Amino acid sequence: MPSPAPAILWFREDLRLADNPALDMAASSGRPLICLYIRETGDSAPRPLGGASRWWLNRSLAELAASLEAIGGTLVLRTGPAESVLAALVQETGAEAVFWNRRYGLPERETDAAIKKALKDKGVNCQSFNGRLLVEPWELKTGSGGWYKVFTPFWRALQASYKAPAPLPAPRQIKAAFADSEALSSWKLHPEKPDWSGGLAEAWQPGENGAMARLEAFLDGPVSRYAETRNLPGELDGTSQLSPHLRFGEIGPAQVWRAVQARLAAQKADENSARVFLSEIAWREFSYTLLYYNPDLATANYNAAFNRMGWRRSDADYTAWCRGQTGYPIVDAGMRELWHTGWMHNRVRMIVASMLTKHLLLPWQGGEEWFWDTLVDADPASNPASWQWTAGSGADAAPYFRVFNPISQGQKFDGAGDYVRRWCPELARLPDKYLHAPFEADAQTLAKAGVKLGTTYPKPIIDHAMGRQRALDAYKALKEDQTAE
Ligand SMILES: Cc1cc2nc3c(=O)[nH]c(=O)nc-3n(C[C@H](O)[C@H](O)[C@H](O)COP(=O)(O)OP(=O)(O)OC[C@H]3O[C@@H](n4cnc5c(N)ncnc54)[C@H](O)[C@@H]3O)c2cc1C
Repeated sequence: MPSPAPAILWFREDLRLADNPALDMAASSGRPLICLYIRETGDSAPRPLGGASRWWLNRSLAELAASLEAIGGTLVLRTGPAESVLAALVQETGAEAVFWNRRYGLPERETDAAIKKALKDKGVNCQSFNGRLLVEPWELKTGSGGWYKVFTPFWRALQASYKAPAPLPAPRQIKAAFADSEALSSWKLHPEKPDWSGGLAEAWQPGENGAMARLEAFLDGPVSRYAETRNLPGELDGTSQLSPHLRFGEIGPAQVWRAVQARLAAQKADENSARVFLSEIAWREFSYTLLYYNPDLATANYNAAFNRMGWRRSDADYTAWCRGQTGYPIVDAGMRELWHTGWMHNRVRMIVASMLTKHLLLPWQGGEEWFWDTLVDADPASNPASWQWTAGSGADAAPYFRVFNPISQGQKFDGAGDYVRRWCPELARLPDKYLHAPFEADAQTLAKAGVKLGTTYPKPIIDHAMGRQRALDAYKALKEDQTAE
């Protein structure tokens, strides 16, 4: 009997074999499979990845290719506008079906809709699935039929309505259809000259196996302490560190949800901590709802009143912030952790973002871009949504008068100084009392610790009280402007 025409499985932000609805459907179609990843170019391409994400993608695609080969498949790599790559591949191989999991940014949605139409017009069966979210942005509606703009009712509605679908096992065997592939190395995703990725490689194991290992390790203990440890950046396993794996779809949120529920059912996790953890997964979902209904979330103020905000411009201050040279140890430690590992603890992300947008009064978009370039978990929804939340311009945002005090935040959440000592070793010998404010130490204490302010460690880029007051004035003026309208 002749073999049926092949099907194309287009991998995008779902680089895994297990619990992948599009792959499951493609594999069970009985057709030979072309597993495809497109390096999209052209006007309709998604936002170009930052450096750290490119490093991750390189590793993740290599892992995916190896996992596919182990079950008889191959990963086909192509470059170009997605529409023309798919049209050419269908033409070349005679494929009669195309499957993918959906994405939620506007350019991506437009591309996907155009491709679906073009393929259907040619008689190609084209189907899409939800492989990325617990609930898709149009599924959860308020009583009046709108979308949720505030997190707490969103979370309540999600808990009340969400039932995880049955898990989909990874296919055991795939019959590959042949198609030419570009070589992954030719994409030059790995940084060269210089290769700055050593710290990333030490910290992470990209790919589905790495994701499952992280999840298991987290559920085997840390999840039950999460309610307390999630705010302590010095704790090495205080949070799950699943974010880059979720970003690239090496694990899906439904897998995380089911695994947590299973531990709860077996009474192997603390109920409160597990719920707090799931609520963080829900913040990711909420961010995707925001992105879906506000496609320019990464550039435009969600709250348009912020278009009149009196931001400063200062390349020198921005550069000092990026490099972890602000003179505030908790901020500098965070920015250096980011540079070294491609990740930063959530509490510290909030502190550094507050320093940029409040103390330094610099536009949040600059911070968003720096994070986009340097985070391995740089996410098209969570990154802009979180930046806007901190700046006060976002949905359900932090109130404008909330200006994080970098000294007391450090003392409160890194009291023993493990985090600052790890990332700012030049301050390691300072006593705890001065670790978060070296500029308050007397000359003798500084000399004893080998710290020379302005030489071995910077003086504060801005006086805390002055920066705080300037921010409050600017935010207050904006608010008054708004009320006067
Ligand atoms: C300024 C700023 C920028 C951020 N940029 C990103 C980003 O680009 N990508 C990203 O995934 N997260 C971002 N976050 C959210 C959060 O800091 C990270 O998701 C979290 O630190 C990842 O670590 P974890 O996996 O150990 O989280 P855990 O505490 O273990 O949480 C589990 C998962 O829930 C999700 N999550 C947790 N907190 C949030 C949150 N506040 N918003 C959305 N999702 C959340 C993540 O997917 C995370 O992996 C940002 C936060 C701030 C304040």
